[in-house]
Amino acid sequence: MSLLVETRDLHKRFGGIHAVRGVNLRVQRGEVLGFLGPNGAGKTTTMRMITGFLEPTDGSAWVDGVNVALDPLRAKSRMGYLPEGAPCYPDMRVEEFLSFIARARGYRGTELKARVERAIMSVNLTLVRRQTFETLSKGYRRRTGIAQSLLHDPPVLILDEPTDGLDPNQKFEVRSLIRQLGKDRAIILSTHLLEEVEAVCTRAVIINRGTVVFDGTPAEMDAKAPASIKVNRLDHVFRELTTGDVPGGKP
Ligand code: ATP
Repeated sequence: MSLLVETRDLHKRFGGIHAVRGVNLRVQRGEVLGFLGPNGAGKTTTMRMITGFLEPTDGSAWVDGVNVALDPLRAKSRMGYLPEGAPCYPDMRVEEFLSFIARARGYRGTELKARVERAIMSVNLTLVRRQTFETLSKGYRRRTGIAQSLLHDPPVLILDEPTDGLDPNQKFEVRSLIRQLGKDRAIILSTHLLEEVEAVCTRAVIINRGTVVFDGTPAEMDAKAPASIKVNRLDHVFRELTTGDVPGGKP
């Protein structure tokens, strides 16, 4: 295994808000890390610091051995980022958008064309490649967002709520894609869906009020629930770790 993402004592303050308080993460190739936490826990802020879109107040983020703050361009060449909501230009066609991003990544000519084709094939966008973004279903928008994050074939993917708002079939498809992509990459995905952790993640990290309160496998998370809890076991553990208020507990 090789270490592809590392954060060392990462902090972020926004004025009086201490949003991220000493987060240490280590993600190896082959791991799909589910990043969980209640609203406002610090997930997006942490991911933005890893991707170099936000400067840490303290601490450092490393991607494939590159310090993100010191060498942001080299770090960005080693990761793909799907921002929350998979934003895109509404009147651009899928292949136009991917060509635009490939150009911004520095590719030209046959290399650019080959990369766009590969991205279209790898996330199954062939049917909609000439459609404009605004006419796509949410599932295809998300796929287009994932395709742009793969254009430069990075070893690290950072995906902010990749299945948010998708119907069950679309969720299934995007999760299968993430599982497949995760085999030879390191992936961090944020989610509010505990079933997503069981479905795609090899590891779960729970953050609450800017601090990591759990780091382990989904099975280890499940094992923290008492045997008396038969259903919604991950819900139980999540709630206990983030609010201290336990569903299904004694009244
Ligand atoms: P959600 O699940 O709702 O997306 P999150 O875990 O991603 O939440 P963040 O978006 O990282 O949480 O926010 C963490 C804290 O930092 C919140 O209190 C938020 O209001 C604050 N925050 C985030 N960005 C800024 C900003 N640009 N300026 C001021 N405060 C911010």
